[in-house]
Amino acid sequence: MPDMSAMDELRDEVAHCTRCPELVENRTQTVFGDGTSDAKILFVGEAPGEEEDQKGIPFIGRAGRLMDNAMEEVGIPRSMVFITNTLKCRPPENRDPKPEEIDNCKAFLAAQVALIKPKIIVPLGRFGLEQMVKKDKKISEVHGRAMRRKDGLIFFPMYHPAAALHQPRYRQDILTDFKKLAKLLKREGLL
Ligand code: URA
Repeated sequence: MPDMSAMDELRDEVAHCTRCPELVENRTQTVFGDGTSDAKILFVGEAPGEEEDQKGIPFIGRAGRLMDNAMEEVGIPRSMVFITNTLKCRPPENRDPKPEEIDNCKAFLAAQVALIKPKIIVPLGRFGLEQMVKKDKKISEVHGRAMRRKDGLIFFPMYHPAAALHQPRYRQDILTDFKKLAKLLKREGLL
């Protein structure tokens, strides 16, 4: 189990962050992340949306429900995962995160990884992928493929679930990738 006080300290630090003036001015609250602190899987989305900003919890809107349903369908328990975003504040009107905002926030994500020590990191969509893996990779080319780092940490990128809300053709890809993720968990002896 990670040191809970360290996790609480980090949550508090995030809550008081003032590095991005435009985000600070517009946010209702920061959205640190949700899940068990000894989670095996860390999902990394883009940034909180309107509902997340209101409630302070990531992925509770339509995209989140789609993800919850997919996890239930393939048998991945919620207790195995921690969900967070590259940005801990909602960008106004849900615009894309700016590079300097991602830069300002990246130490928080790194600290979450260091505390949780997940076995698998799942970047959801382009922003999570750029932040966690590499800038020159395309999500359409690497989604559903496990990439193992030298130290054993596995990256398993997926399309962002919001993609399926805008374009139904992604729905099947996302479900297929969740099935592959469940298989990977079994192969790794985690499920
Ligand atoms: N989309 C995200 O990327 N993150 C959320 O928390 C909600 C929607």
